Amino acid sequence: MNRPKVLLTRRWPDEVEQYLAERYELTRNVEDRPLTADELREAMATHDAVCPTVSDRLDASIVDAGRGRLRILGNFGVGVSHIDLEACRRAGIVVTNTPDVLTECTADIAITLMLMVARRAGEGERHVRARAWTGWRPTHMMGTRLSGKTLGLIGFGRIGQATARKAHLGFGMQILYYSRRRAAPEIEAALGARFCPTVEELLGASDFVSLHCPGGAETRHLLDAKRLALMKPTAFLINTARGEVVDEQALAAALRSGSIAGAGLDVYEHEPRITEALFELENVVLLPHLGSATRETRVAMGMRVAENLDLFFSGRAPRDRVC
Ligand code: NAP
Repeated sequence: MNRPKVLLTRRWPDEVEQYLAERYELTRNVEDRPLTADELREAMATHDAVCPTVSDRLDASIVDAGRGRLRILGNFGVGVSHIDLEACRRAGIVVTNTPDVLTECTADIAITLMLMVARRAGEGERHVRARAWTGWRPTHMMGTRLSGKTLGLIGFGRIGQATARKAHLGFGMQILYYSRRRAAPEIEAALGARFCPTVEELLGASDFVSLHCPGGAETRHLLDAKRLALMKPTAFLINTARGEVVDEQALAAALRSGSIAGAGLDVYEHEPRITEALFELENVVLLPHLGSATRETRVAMGMRVAENLDLFFSGRAPRDRVC
């Protein structure tokens, strides 16, 4: 029997590519450049499985190219807002993702950004590298401490709760959260977390606001100019979720005017493009979408896709079916 044809849209860790190559007829992206829309359509029309990631935009016109041939999209990542899931449902294409394996590392990056922006670590590093540092003094680069402050989480799933645990147990932070459904009382108790029934209430009460909801139409510009204005002028915004959740222009304006104290960003509205004004500001930390970027996690993500494909192509239910 012919082996299923599987295409990876980007380079994956060597050991995962090797594992897949032993089981499938594998098409790799050796150059590791993003595929064009036409190349994605061609891939969808000629493979049984395509394994995309966040840098691929799979709109309906691309999904429809897979009709009749493509059976499964094994996404490398937990977020699937770059895939038109409705079009996949209509075309009978199964979609899977990679939850759990990236939770701790992404929460670590949220904490990294909180520390970097509050303790002015990015700014301080630039200062030293510019050979501008003249020595220790009591009033030099005073930042804000995390301990005892209030962290407001928007989205309280796997990564939101992991961030809450690190912030509460590691830094003694008070935890507030907003999500559409309230978490179980035992989860709230373990994390010292209090539910906020509205985003507005959470924004006004938090010293740090960290985003952990999915991207997509429903959460697009969840933080717009009006809501950013509800944050304390001493508060920091952290985004490791998806860029589109924040109106990036409005955020740049809030950071420039000082209506909020700072921001730590791992994700952007139009990646890899970043709103020009952000480059000029000292009170924002800019990371290149590093949430899951540890060796351990990237291998685990690849192996999780492989597990989903193995189950699917042996006639069983994939573990992480999204639709
Ligand atoms: P998850 O377990 O599904 O958690 C998502 C949370 O968001 C849930 O609490 C959900 O609760 C809430 N939510 C959904 N829609 C919402 C809305 N409209 N308003 C407010 N809250 C909403 O997902 P996860 O594994 O924690 O991942 C969260 C997101 O992180 C992913 O979707 C992905 O985009 C992003 N991520 C980024 C990186 C990175 O590299 N920076 C890495 C991994 C993941 P309710 O349904 O009750 O509202």
